Order: sequence, then structure tokens, then C-alpha cells
Amino acid sequence: MRLQNVCQEYDMTTNLLTILDRQDRSCLGTDPEVFVSDSLGDQNYAKLVCAECPVVAACLNYALERPSIVGVWGATSYQDRRRMWRNG
Ligand code: SF4
Repeated sequence: MRLQNVCQEYDMTTNLLTILDRQDRSCLGTDPEVFVSDSLGDQNYAKLVCAECPVVAACLNYALERPSIVGVWGATSYQDRRRMWRNG
């Protein structure tokens, strides 16, 4: 594995741990299924949970930098993020 890949992987892990380690993140204790559900109602509920989250910006950045991630992250669904990528 090249050094650049190792660094990217390390950065990805640390960023994710920075988010997941936060004991005050709003999704802690929330049913994780609503974050990966196809139901618009579930997705909207998940977005409302995110809207109150202290790490919403970091979480959104994390997902925006990783197009393979699906589900609601940082108060956006995958469809929302696709629109953001398209619109620059
Ligand atoms: S922004 Fe949403 S998905 Fe990200 S940590 Fe907060 S509540 Fe969880």
C-alpha cells in the first residue's frame, strides 16, 4: 500500500472516530435504521435529529468527501448530497 493511501485511510479513520466518539452527537441512542432507510419519512426524521447535532458540519463534510457513503449524514440524504455535488 502506498504511503498516500495509508495517510488517506488514517485520516478517514480519525475523522470518523472524531465524529463517532462524540458522546453528545444527536444520533447516539436513536434507531440507526432511520438513517439508512429508503422511506422519506424516516430520512426526514433523521435529518431533524442531525439538525440538533453539535457535529453536523464535520459529519456533512465527512460524507461529502466520500461519495460511496449512503444514508443520512450531516442532515443530508444521499440524494441531497448528489444534488450538492452536481451543483458544485
Ligand atoms: S450529524 Fe447526524 S449522523 Fe452525523 S453524528 Fe450528528 S446526528 Fe449523527
